[in-house]
Amino acid sequence: MTTEAEATTTTQDTSRVEGVSSFSKSLFLGEIHQDVVFPFPRPREEEREKVRGLISSLRECADEHYDWRQAEEDRWVGDGFIRELGERGILGLYVPEKYGGQGLSQTGYCRVFETIAQIDPTLSVVLGVHQSIGLKGIALFGSDDQKERFLPDLASGRRLAGFALTEPNAGSDAYHLESRAVHQSDGSWLLNGEKRWIGNGDKGSVFVTFARAEVGGKDRHIALILEKGMKGFEVGHRYDTMGLRANDLRALHFNDVRVPPENVLGEPGDGFKIAMHILNNGRMSLATGSVGSAKWLLDGAIAHVTERRQFGRRLADFELVQDKIGWMVAQLFGLESMAYMTTGRRGGRELREILYWRWDPIGIAGAALPYNGDEYESYVGPIVNLLHTGADDREVARHLEDVEPGGLTVSSDHHRETADLITA
Ligand SMILES: Cc1cc2nc3c(=O)[nH]c(=O)nc-3n(C[C@H](O)[C@H](O)[C@H](O)COP(=O)(O)OP(=O)(O)OC[C@H]3O[C@@H](n4cnc5c(N)ncnc54)[C@H](O)[C@@H]3O)c2cc1C
Repeated sequence: MTTEAEATTTTQDTSRVEGVSSFSKSLFLGEIHQDVVFPFPRPREEEREKVRGLISSLRECADEHYDWRQAEEDRWVGDGFIRELGERGILGLYVPEKYGGQGLSQTGYCRVFETIAQIDPTLSVVLGVHQSIGLKGIALFGSDDQKERFLPDLASGRRLAGFALTEPNAGSDAYHLESRAVHQSDGSWLLNGEKRWIGNGDKGSVFVTFARAEVGGKDRHIALILEKGMKGFEVGHRYDTMGLRANDLRALHFNDVRVPPENVLGEPGDGFKIAMHILNNGRMSLATGSVGSAKWLLDGAIAHVTERRQFGRRLADFELVQDKIGWMVAQLFGLESMAYMTTGRRGGRELREILYWRWDPIGIAGAALPYNGDEYESYVGPIVNLLHTGADDREVARHLEDVEPGGLTVSSDHHRETADLITA
């Protein structure tokens, strides 16, 4: 065994590792592979211009047509507002232009998403369910025919999408879901089962769902595109929640739903990989949504400490308050940098890698994105402390309550574990 004295004097062979797969891992080996992370990925100027236009159109539309208090009251963000957003291109941000979308990169999409979360976290969940996970499976794994059939309507807001994975006995452990699809002699699949906690449940009309299925004599998973109106596809009761009150969260029931072969997404048997890939991909906009909310809170905190006076001075003149604001700015810089490093490095590689933390250049998929959700929680503490008595409580509360439960901590660790299981 190595003694403490030996350990401090021993020189180890730490020859430079070429072709590292992870920036974070190399740090533990005593190496800094700057080439992996620099230059910081930046979108093309043309896209930045487009993103700026979409953000200002989104803000203008929200100012004119959206009232988050009303949405909470109505328990829905509003069909008219959804249609308006669709007309402005906000519902098909990364959908290719040939299918009526904006064709943004992952970074462009996430920048717009940051603003959506600033306007209202519930709105970010509704639009996130639609794009980050709902229609993403069709965009990533759909056949040309499926893309042509579904994407134009979804990108324009004529239809809303949902993602139906969770079941009564399958939450984090999504691999062990119990819905079942049985192959029929006419090529269709007969689907039975129950889903729960499904966003846009009663408002959506296209759902990507997952079930167990026998494929090649083995018990595997299948991904299916369900459409409202299919016989046996029923929307169940609505869940009541503390935050995210305008999110239409439902149970879904499948009773002998006959799904035609043209609605099978990807290859039968690949359903679980497709589900995990969609979730991993969608997680990035949740991270930048946290960044958007953190910016909103920071702006509020700065405005408050520069206005409010105690002991004859502005709060901002106290060194301890300056220290808190400095900490918030530094943390936010870290959160934002990690989130956009990930989106920038991911750009365009979605189809190449099913389980991206295997190659993720900075180990961010495995570390930084859950970190964004977890850190958001610790981030807000000092802000609440500063804003106390300085802001509309409900305004602040919705950013505290709504974003975190909708954020990354719910399932990221477990999805990673499950994915490790299938790559083992
Ligand atoms: C607001 C909201 C919207 C949602 N929208 C959708 C949607 O649109 N579509 C959809 O399919 N699903 C949706 N869900 C469901 C969501 O994906 C699940 O809640 C999530 O997968 C966790 O499952 P669960 O709630 O059953 O918790 P469980 O899996 O039962 O976990 C309960 C607790 O145990 C912990 N835990 C579980 N396993 C482990 C482990 N291995 N190690 C350590 N701790 C563990 C969890 O972290 C958690 O704290 C939504 C949920 C919420 C809250």
